[in-house]
Amino acid sequence: MVDPFQRTVSYLRVSVTDRCDFRCSYCMSENMTFLPRQDLLTLEELERLCAAFIAKGVRKLRLTGGEPLVRKNIMSLVRALGRKIGSGLDELTMTTNGSQLAQFAEELHDCGVRRINVSLDTLSPEKFRQITRRGDFYKVMDGIDAAQRAGLLVKLNAVALKDQNSDEMPDLIRFAHGRGMDMTIIETMPMGDVEEDRTDRYLPLSQLRDELERHFTMTDTSYATGGPARYVTVQETGGRLGFITPMTHNFCESCNRVRLTCTGTLFMCLGQSDAADLRLVIRASDDDDVLFAAIDDAIARKPKGHDFLIERNNRKPSVLRHMSVTGG
Ligand code: SAM
Ligand code: SF4
Repeated sequence: MVDPFQRTVSYLRVSVTDRCDFRCSYCMSENMTFLPRQDLLTLEELERLCAAFIAKGVRKLRLTGGEPLVRKNIMSLVRALGRKIGSGLDELTMTTNGSQLAQFAEELHDCGVRRINVSLDTLSPEKFRQITRRGDFYKVMDGIDAAQRAGLLVKLNAVALKDQNSDEMPDLIRFAHGRGMDMTIIETMPMGDVEEDRTDRYLPLSQLRDELERHFTMTDTSYATGGPARYVTVQETGGRLGFITPMTHNFCESCNRVRLTCTGTLFMCLGQSDAADLRLVIRASDDDDVLFAAIDDAIARKPKGHDFLIERNNRKPSVLRHMSVTGG
């Protein structure tokens, strides 16, 4: 699959549910309305769509959400997709908030998952509850322990939040690297209505990096995971630190991915609204050629880039849907 800007699409992110056991303040509103269950694709339908994308050239697949591990029977999909590793698929990964990992880590490894991303924005249990509005920090810690014990390579993802966790970043980096985990810091993106003014929390990573230089010696590296992060090595810890800067640096030029939601909507760009309704296609026909043609059609419409903008006194998000719908 090659888009009009000559970018090869080889990476599919699948949001398997829009539901979550947390309500992170930058991601969801306190009172989220979730999709009615009848709108969701079944796990079998999700598998069929994933298989079609793999047949079309997707080599890396990440399950995300919402919280992927709260979807009922999700492990049956993980197992089915795990069987495709080595025959078309190179890698199956997951992004999770970690709350259910203690239960599922071993099974994930058994299904062929080798790397996961766990989101963690703070090491303070109280602040964790404040940011996630309901999460239990210790459960996530147990989850990370279980994942490492099971042999999963864990990367930590932290969203940089001005006046909320930025002062903690050096400690988070030392924690991650001390446990043999890479860490990636992400800028907040204006997606979906949340209660707060996003400019109050928006922290350009260029500024954060300057602050971090006071604690660490950071050297740019050419290391790349196929994602938009730019990595440095931290001399004091020996670990790797990534920066994802959708706002301050346009990360679209090398975009290799598309995103599928749990209702079968394919978004060709995280930051644009154009989408293709693949649920309609698969429910109308069992013929894979029809589905392949619909996928080709969608890829031909992949836009050049996003138009994210965070402005003071403008609480309207750039993109109306929440991150939990498209999957981060
Ligand atoms: N629930 C899982 C988790 O938290 O890892 C997977 C889904 S979550 C939407 C995926 C990632 O998106 C998380 O690392 C989260 O911090 C990030 N995220 C959510 N809303 C965001 C926003 N508005 N800007 C930047 N990152 C965001
Ligand atoms: Fe849930 Fe992940 Fe969004 Fe937090 S960031 S509310 S854990 S989907």
